[in-house]
Amino acid sequence: MIPDSSRVDPAISRLPPLRETIAAHGLDARKRLGQHFLLDLNLTRRIARAAAPLSPGTVIEVGPGPGGLTRALLLEGATRVVAVEVDRRAIAALEELQKAADGRLQVVEGDALGMDLAPLGPPPRRIVANLPYNVSTALLVRWLHAADDVADMVLMFQKEVVDRLVASPRTKDYGRLSVLAQHVCTVQRLFDVAPSAFVPPPKVTSSVARLTPRPLGNRLADLRPLERVTAAAFGQRRKMLRGALAGLFPDPVSVLTGLGLAPTARAEELTVAEFVRLAGVLDK
Ligand code: SAM
Repeated sequence: MIPDSSRVDPAISRLPPLRETIAAHGLDARKRLGQHFLLDLNLTRRIARAAAPLSPGTVIEVGPGPGGLTRALLLEGATRVVAVEVDRRAIAALEELQKAADGRLQVVEGDALGMDLAPLGPPPRRIVANLPYNVSTALLVRWLHAADDVADMVLMFQKEVVDRLVASPRTKDYGRLSVLAQHVCTVQRLFDVAPSAFVPPPKVTSSVARLTPRPLGNRLADLRPLERVTAAAFGQRRKMLRGALAGLFPDPVSVLTGLGLAPTARAEELTVAEFVRLAGVLDK
């Protein structure tokens, strides 16, 4: 059974409703910052529970906004939440929650796109976030590069991004993001969230996914060659690989045949493991 930690956390449970916090701080949602807020504590607690165990270690939340998911993380038992927020108005709105959290919440003002994870707190580090959609894939790719610093990620994206994250070869959604994410992590779609759950509602459905980095020996230590190979291959996904990879290898046909791959194949036909072998050649 899931413990109802709100019973042991009266200070957080007694905070004003999120709508009041938003109104008091003039936190009207800004499109430029990808702001769509979750006000339903049942839903935010469901997301927080999906990321359990929330202690020991550090829960990193990117974009707490008015703090709905942050409250849920604390109520579900996180002992150290570090919330990174770029919008100064939200930083002010989080002050009351910070007081109620009694030392368990640290708010860091800044752009998560330029922030390293390790200095934010001790491992194991879990990233839990309702991501700003305009930078969600850029953030994820950054974290895939830093997978050594992450134990687990439970993230909300636009549904079409999760479709790409879990896509198999020979499907329209399979692409660079599928290969990078599935090579570094096991990726699991958890549940969908309707637009009506957000204030303001976005135009599209959202999905929550869990990405768990594989052990270091089972993935490339340096992801850059895989990024270059997949960018070239899927950058011209209708072309045969012998043409699409011409900018990367002086003789792509011999590289492909040397790996037992058909030079006439197209990017979407290669498995993740085959892309990793191609990246190995580039690395040399
Ligand atoms: N977590 C809140 C919730 O679920 O209600 C807000 C989620 S809202 C989709 C995304 C949040 O990310 C906003 O609060 C926005 O200000 C913040 N944000 C946008 N870009 C950011 C960035 N580069 N670094 C940190 N936070 C960012």
